[in-house]
Formats: sequence, structure tokens, C-alpha cells
Amino acid sequence: MITGNGVYPKKVDVTNCDKEPIHIIGKSQAHGVILACDINTLIISQCSENSGAVIGYEAENLKGKHLSCFFPEELISKLKHFENEKVLLPEITIENKRFLVISHSSEESLILDIEPFGEGLDPVIFQDQLTRIMNELSASRDIEDMGKRAASLVKSLFGYDRVMLYRFDEEWNGEVIAEEREQHLESWLGLHYPATDIPKPSRDLFLKQGVRIISDVNYKPASLIPEISPLNGKPLDLSRSELRAVSPIHIEYLQNMKVGASLTAAIVLNGKLWGLLACHHYSAKFLNYHQRQSVKFLTQVFTNRLAVKTTGVFIEEMDRAEKIRKKLTQKMAATGEIISALTQQDPLFTDLIESSGGAVFFEGDLYLTGKTPSKEQVLELISEVLNNKEDLFHTKNLQEIYSKASEYKDIASGVLSVKIGDKKDNFLIWFREETSQTVDWGGNPEKKELVEGGVRYLSPRKSFEKWTQKVSGIANPWREYDFEAVTSLQEAITYQIVLQQKEEIRKLNERLTAVNKELKSFSYSVSHDLRAPLRGINSFAKILLEEQGEVLNQEGKRVLNIIINSAEEMNNLIHDLLRYASLGQEGLEKKPVDLSKLIGEILETINVKEEYPGAEVKIEKNLPIVNGDRRLIYQLISNILNNALKYSSKVEAPKVEIGFTEYPDPVFFIKDNGIGFDPKLKEKIFGVFSRLVGEEYSGSGIGLAIANKVVEKHQGKIWVETEKGKGSAFYFTLSA
Ligand code: ADP
Repeated sequence: MITGNGVYPKKVDVTNCDKEPIHIIGKSQAHGVILACDINTLIISQCSENSGAVIGYEAENLKGKHLSCFFPEELISKLKHFENEKVLLPEITIENKRFLVISHSSEESLILDIEPFGEGLDPVIFQDQLTRIMNELSASRDIEDMGKRAASLVKSLFGYDRVMLYRFDEEWNGEVIAEEREQHLESWLGLHYPATDIPKPSRDLFLKQGVRIISDVNYKPASLIPEISPLNGKPLDLSRSELRAVSPIHIEYLQNMKVGASLTAAIVLNGKLWGLLACHHYSAKFLNYHQRQSVKFLTQVFTNRLAVKTTGVFIEEMDRAEKIRKKLTQKMAATGEIISALTQQDPLFTDLIESSGGAVFFEGDLYLTGKTPSKEQVLELISEVLNNKEDLFHTKNLQEIYSKASEYKDIASGVLSVKIGDKKDNFLIWFREETSQTVDWGGNPEKKELVEGGVRYLSPRKSFEKWTQKVSGIANPWREYDFEAVTSLQEAITYQIVLQQKEEIRKLNERLTAVNKELKSFSYSVSHDLRAPLRGINSFAKILLEEQGEVLNQEGKRVLNIIINSAEEMNNLIHDLLRYASLGQEGLEKKPVDLSKLIGEILETINVKEEYPGAEVKIEKNLPIVNGDRRLIYQLISNILNNALKYSSKVEAPKVEIGFTEYPDPVFFIKDNGIGFDPKLKEKIFGVFSRLVGEEYSGSGIGLAIANKVVEKHQGKIWVETEKGKGSAFYFTLSA
């Protein structure tokens, strides 16, 4: 929320506190001086207004001067080398007061934090401090024990009234997991604090800065003069300054707790803020730079130990899950039964991670195991929630996103699911029971707003009385190792499914090859075994007619002619049938086909003039070139055209028209004014052997089935418009 002019806003309230730009607060704490100069020229550009009071040089006098006017050469010479890093410069003494100067850069500015030397620290004691920290933390048994030791070390080394280890949960609420305090103070151990107590900007700054003190909560912050950097016209970024003033909201918050000074050190695990070491003192308290470095060292040792310990847990959990996964995978591989391997006999897939029950949804069937919602509820959950989620979905509070889940929150507040198989509509689901928790808040977290004069302000909580809340509908959170475990099982199952599919395809292929072989030998036998005797009948009938024709009477000749014609017809039928059967097996040889030329050839073969002397055939002149298999398209058009001529041959003035319309791809048509047929049979006629006419028209009933197959192979469509006695129009498309 850098406001229009890019400065720290005048008022921070609930609507903007989570974006409060604390880094450009433009003020220093009172105990030290922030001084900024041009990183190249070392000419002083800004200085906090308390410089007169702290180091004896008025801010106004410093401005525009070179650093060397006020600081010894020894210090200046160090500046050149370490501009980017934070550097502790040689100590300076002004009017008998010792100061430490810490420098770092920020854009065009070099920032010097000048702060009192504070209590002297004997190097031997310092070294001893560090050794104690190392030894104590290394000897800790677990995270809780380590927290206790860290808190007690800090308390004994630095003397804060209360030292707490504060741990964040997934929603950034915090819990005090270790505490050391003065006897008279009440314990805050186990108390929770809402995420709003440490809003995002503060958390971000902790990541950048590490250790930070507020030496006097009741101090008056000193503004930078001038407020905006003359070097770039922007407010000075004080994110990394040791002396940066504190957000007024935070000050009020601490004041409400009666805290006089504080120290906060970030514990960062894997780049993420894990927790804070938070120290409170009930009067002003300053810790010098060296002491703060010791605290920083402590948090680093703490983080290292934490990383080792959490990695240890992670590895242990992964190891355990890996063993289960292996057993499940072996069961699947041995039986080839994915579902029963997951849901029957030890181990079950629900043993993979901590869960109270689970469900497998596979190819429309649902299998439940352990404590789960009812079948109907799980099916509903899948269709209403899980289907719309990512491959891996998890929640520890299902009812929060899906209100129906409140009915079964005791059994399934936590849900973790992965999609399995290639279609991604199969699921493995794990459920976790509600862990009814009682959370002790440090004050009622919901009562944090204050409305004054109609404006909503963020009012840091005034009361820190323990406020107990029963939290329902929440399960133990799913951890990183749970995700790792379920994804590796997901991969194993998917692999198994693919294996099975491969096997199925192999078997199908085998069957198909066998069927194909059968079909081929069937076609072969049809063509040979049937056609040979047919040819015999035909030839002998013809011989008989030629040689013995004279001795036969009229009736005998007529019967012989019928035999000859029938044999020819049967031969044609077998020919067509074989052509149809062979169509299925051939691949397409696509190339550009000139339809006008092709139709010319077809008409010539049909011998229209001789065969259909009365017919008028009209052909569109500009038929397009299409991309397709010429031989097949020939069969397609030849069949439809033959039909058009045949079924219009007995009407008066038969007329056949061939053309196309373009929308946007060409739709071809062949229209006739022939006998037409009942439109109810529009689809039926494309099947094999469907004939709607009797012997008055020759034919096998296969022509349109061939046409249909050709179009199908070209990914096109074919259909007919017709009316009995009025003619028919056949349409087809061929995709490019
Ligand atoms: P056929 O060899 O009998 O013509 P088809 O498969 O080519 O076989 O056609 C199937 C049936 O569809 C035909 O028997 C006929 O009844 C009907 N038919 C096909 N084309 C037409 C047409 N242009 N006009 C009327 N009927 C037709």
C-alpha cells in the first residue's frame, strides 16, 4: 500500500494493516541515529532528527556534507568495500560516548545505523555465551526440549523478564511452545495468538532482518529529515535498518500488554518463517549489537537443529510409508487386482499415512475402508468437490469449504485425495477424524476491531486474558511427508493401470489379428469356393443354350436364361460384398482429386447415353478439387450416381443434378427426380443389404453401405433428403 505519493500512510486501520508498509516508516527509534548518504559520493542525504540529541550533530548541519566531515578516515575507508552486506564499522567516540556504526545499502543510499555501544562485552564472556548456546541446543532431545533450553538461555544471558518461543501454524496463528519468565508473571505457555497479531508485513521483515529490538516501547520516534530521499524521490527503504521505528499499531499492542521493551528473533526453516523467539521486558531495555548477534547465532543453531530434527521425522515417516507402498505395489503386481490389493488384507492403502479411513473410487465403483462418511456422502463429495480440484487436494477443515461436510465432521474433517489413472476421474481418498481441540487464546482473537466516529480502526487487543475456545471440525494437518507418500502411491497405481491397459491392448490386438485372418480366409473362400461353381453354372447354362437351344422349347430357353442372369447377379453380389469387406482394412491414400474429371470418367463407365438415353445429367462446372483417396471417392460417387440414374430411369423426363454448396466446407449433392422413398427409412438404407425395391430394379443393397464407409473413412458425413415419388437428394462431405 504505497500511497499515491509513495509515503507511509497517515492512518492505518483494519482495511489496510495487512499491507502496512512498515519498511518505509521513515523514522528511527530514539536510542540511535539513522543516517543516509549517497552511495557513490558519500554526501549525507538524510538523517533522523534526533541526531543532535544522540550524537551531538544537528540533522540540518549534517545534510549535504561529506561523511568525512564527521567520521574518522578509518571508518570511511571501510565503507567502500562492503556496501551490500551489513557491516559493523570501527567503533567511534563522540564527546566521550562510544557508538557502534552498522552500515548497509538500500538502492542509491548507504545507510548508517549509529547506536550506543551499550554495556561492554568481554570477548571471553562472548565466546563463552556462544559455546553454551551450541552445547545446550545440541544436547536437546526434541523440539520442545530445545525450545525450553533456548528460552532459558536467552533469559539467563540477557535478562529479559519473559522469553517465549512462538511457533506459527499453517494460517500464521502462533502458539507459545516454550517460556521462561520472572516468577511474578503469569504464564502464557500454550496460549495462541491470532495471525493478525503479527501481520504479513512484519513477518516479511522478520525474514529479512532476523533479530530486532524495541529498546523503549514508550519512545518518541525520530523522523528522517528530509522525509523523502533527495537521491531518488522515494521514501527510504529501512527494511534492514537496525534502528527502524516500530509500527504504531505494534507499539499500541505492546503498550496494551504493558511491555516496555522487546526483542524478537526469527526462526526460519527452509526459507519460511517457522517461529519467533520473542522476549518482553517490562521497562526499557537495550541490547547492543554484539549481544543481538549472539541471539542471532542462537537462532541459527536452533534452526540447524530444527532442520535436522524435522528432516529426521520426515525421513522416518517416508521410510515407513515407503515400506507400505512397496507391499501394496507387490500385491497389485502379483494379483493384477488394483482395488482388492488396496482395500483387502494387510496392509491397506489407508495404512500408508495417518488416517481414520479411506475410499477408492475406481471406474464408477466406490470402496470404503475404516471410518468414513456414507457411500452417498462420499460420492457427493467426489462430484461436488474433488472433481473440480487439482490432482492432489487436501484440507484439514472440510466443512469450511463444503458445508455439507459438517454432518460428518467427526469422522472426516481432514480429507486428502489424489486422482489416479489416465482419465483422472478415479480417486484415492484418505480421511482424518476431527481432533476436538480446546485452544487457549491470549485474548479473544475476534474482538479486534474498533469503530470510532464511523471509521473502523484496527485496535490492538486491549485484553490478553486467557480466552478459551473449543475448535470443531478440524483434523490434524496433513504434512509434507503425507503428500510425498500419497503421490508415490499414486504413481505406482498409475503405472499398474498403464501396465494392465497395455496387456489388454496386446490381447485385443491378438484377437483382432485372429479375426482379421479369419475374415481374410472367409473372403478368400467366398470368392473362390462360391464363385467357381457359379462360374460353372453360368458357363454350362450358356453352352447348353448355344448347343442344345434348338431342341429346347420356349419355356426351357426362358428357364435357362433365368439361370444365366441369376448366376451373373449372384457373381455381382459377391463382388460387391468383397469390395465392401476389403474397404475396412485399407488405409487412405490421400491426394488432391479433381471431381469434374472423376465424374466424367464415372459417366463414361456407366455409358449413360446408351443405358439411360432419356436422362438429363447436369453437372456443376466448378466442382472443387478435394483431398482424399481417389479410388474410394470414385466408388462413393459412382454408387450414388448409379442409384440416381437407376431409380429415376422409369419416370418421365429423368433428371440428375450434381453440384455442391459451400458452408464453409463444401457439401456435395446428387439429386434426382426419381421414385424417392419413405423418409422414415433415411438411415436404414445405408446399412448392408437394405433394399427398399423389388426385382424391377437390379442391385445388391451394398452400394450405399460402401458410400457410407468411404465417407466415414474421410471423416465426413452422408445423408439423404427424399420423398416418395418426388425424387431424392444425397449429400455428403469429405473433411480435408
Ligand atoms: P442397391 O444396390 O439396391 O441400389 P444401395 O445400397 O445402393 O443398393 O441402395 C439401397 C436402397 O436404397 C436401394 O435398394 C433403394 O431402395 C434405395 N435407394 C438408393 N438410392 C436411391 C435413390 N436415388 N432413389 C430412391 N431410392 C434409392
